[in-house]
Amino acid sequence: MVIISSSYHRPYSQELELLRILNRRSTLTEKQRNRLKQLEIGLAGEVFVDNKLKPYSEILTVIPDIIMQINHTHIQIDTLILSPTSIYLFEIKNYFGNYEITEDGYWLSPKHNYILNPLIQLERTQSLVRQLLAEAHVSVELLQGYVLFPDPSFTLYGAKQTMPIIFSSQLDSFFKQISSKLHNQFSQQKVIERIDYYRLVSSPFTKLPDINTMMIRPGVLCFFCFSPMTKSSQRTFKCTDCQKIESAQNALKRTYDEYTRIYQDHSTSLQSFHQYTDKQFSYSTIHRFLRNC
Ligand SMILES: [Zn+2]
Repeated sequence: MVIISSSYHRPYSQELELLRILNRRSTLTEKQRNRLKQLEIGLAGEVFVDNKLKPYSEILTVIPDIIMQINHTHIQIDTLILSPTSIYLFEIKNYFGNYEITEDGYWLSPKHNYILNPLIQLERTQSLVRQLLAEAHVSVELLQGYVLFPDPSFTLYGAKQTMPIIFSSQLDSFFKQISSKLHNQFSQQKVIERIDYYRLVSSPFTKLPDINTMMIRPGVLCFFCFSPMTKSSQRTFKCTDCQKIESAQNALKRTYDEYTRIYQDHSTSLQSFHQYTDKQFSYSTIHRFLRNC
């Protein structure tokens, strides 16, 4: 079970990682570009909240990114916090700009498009987590759910004070307030065990880009600006654009790492990886590297 500590870094999802690589090595469709942007913005919001929580990691048990299947239903929790006295469930929405809740309760984006009401999604997740708590013999009354908007430029016209919403300006005081050093009033261990029981490794709904339909540009790309690198000496590579230099060993390792992320379901052969590097490494170098992998 991953718990946020002062040195925690939220991992990138498989989908985000793959789209980032493909963005450098291929031409994304408009849909893929939008998806990449959406994932980057979402991650930035989650990382922002993680960093706000780090100072409290000795008091609060903060569990990031939980995907579970309960009663044939999948739920994803951006962040779950076990404080000594309560359980907080956060749905993080990194929206920016002016949003509006109409008198009929519909949510409108800055461009006046209807969007899904995040409070409904929150309620649905909460009801499943209540079930999990009941099974762990922990009072469901301890659960509180909030939709959290970390971007300071986000405004929500029509929001009511009674709505379970936390805005950017309220984050610090909220986290401070829930970090009181009280004795534990419920068994955190029982809750954690129950989460582990229902937990899935990854979301079954993630649809990865189909690489078979994409042209992948071969070569060794710069770690800094992603332009092509070429061999500059026996043991170094140099970027053709920003001129940064990297050891051949590092460049090989990085390129192989990318390669396995793109072709994870395919059998990797010496020859295909050799092609992928645009033949920048000899067969014998690759062979030696793979043997030590
Ligand atoms: Zn470069």
